[in-house]
Amino acid sequence: EPAVHRTHPTGPGVTRIDTTRPHPARVYDWFLGGKDNYPVDEALGKQIMSIDAGAPRAARANRRFMQRATRRLAREAGIRQFLDIGTGIPTEPNLHQIAQSFAPDARVVYVDNDPIVLAHAEALLRGTPEGVTEYLQADAREPAAILEQARRILDFDRPVALSLIALLHFVADEDGAHELVDTLVEALAPGSCLVVSAMTADFEPENVQRGIAAYAAGGVTLVARSQAEMGRFFKGLEVLDPGVVSVADWHPEPDAGGDAPDGPGPVSLYGGVGRKP
Ligand code: SAH
Repeated sequence: EPAVHRTHPTGPGVTRIDTTRPHPARVYDWFLGGKDNYPVDEALGKQIMSIDAGAPRAARANRRFMQRATRRLAREAGIRQFLDIGTGIPTEPNLHQIAQSFAPDARVVYVDNDPIVLAHAEALLRGTPEGVTEYLQADAREPAAILEQARRILDFDRPVALSLIALLHFVADEDGAHELVDTLVEALAPGSCLVVSAMTADFEPENVQRGIAAYAAGGVTLVARSQAEMGRFFKGLEVLDPGVVSVADWHPEPDAGGDAPDGPGPVSLYGGVGRKP
């Protein structure tokens, strides 16, 4: 088995989808009101909501952070290449739709390791004719394999926006979270940006710890990080204003595109953007 499949959603690379255990991508899809989830995912989603009724709001706020960060990088930073690892089940607007609405020629590479995302990847591949959108099935913990494939599509001598959105809480420090970020960032040209969001227990410690326990009972490992621990992912980068903050507080745009905020106060994910000097 190669570490990375160039994908054809109906082709031989499609792996079995396990509907007996909850999958993070599908639980997240359920929080977002999507249809690509199974009863096991809904059950865990409901259990998390009984602990923290704000979980769907956090998922929506995280999604909007991705949209705002992508928009700013395409519009203000002029970035035309995007590498998004831990893409998730397609939810409109997807990253390529945001980027290509400003820059039709934008090139976007999506990566996820969950076969359910592969099964839905077709929706991620309908980009502009001027641009490129590709999907790779690969594991973030094998960053060298991802880079090798992504280099066929992206020019790493020019800036790339690398986004790891709601991904790194699935990778503990012991499992190489920092090594994978460092390997990816090292491959980027000056002017490239790292966009990260990940879970924290800083705002609602008890609820988040109980949520982590519920995911663990479902066989999913989650880690919460403090603001300082999140900051370590941006080592060697210039963290852009306003720094590492709750995703809801990162350049909020209450009225953008009918994006009404879901309520006041921080949500339990930190987000930030760093620029490679
Ligand atoms: N980035 C999207 C989806 C977040 S859900 C968003 O923020 O809206 C997290 C995604 O990360 C899931 O789709 C899950 O399958 C994926 N993921 C988790 N661990 C991964 C790994 N080791 N390698 C690649 N993808 C992973």
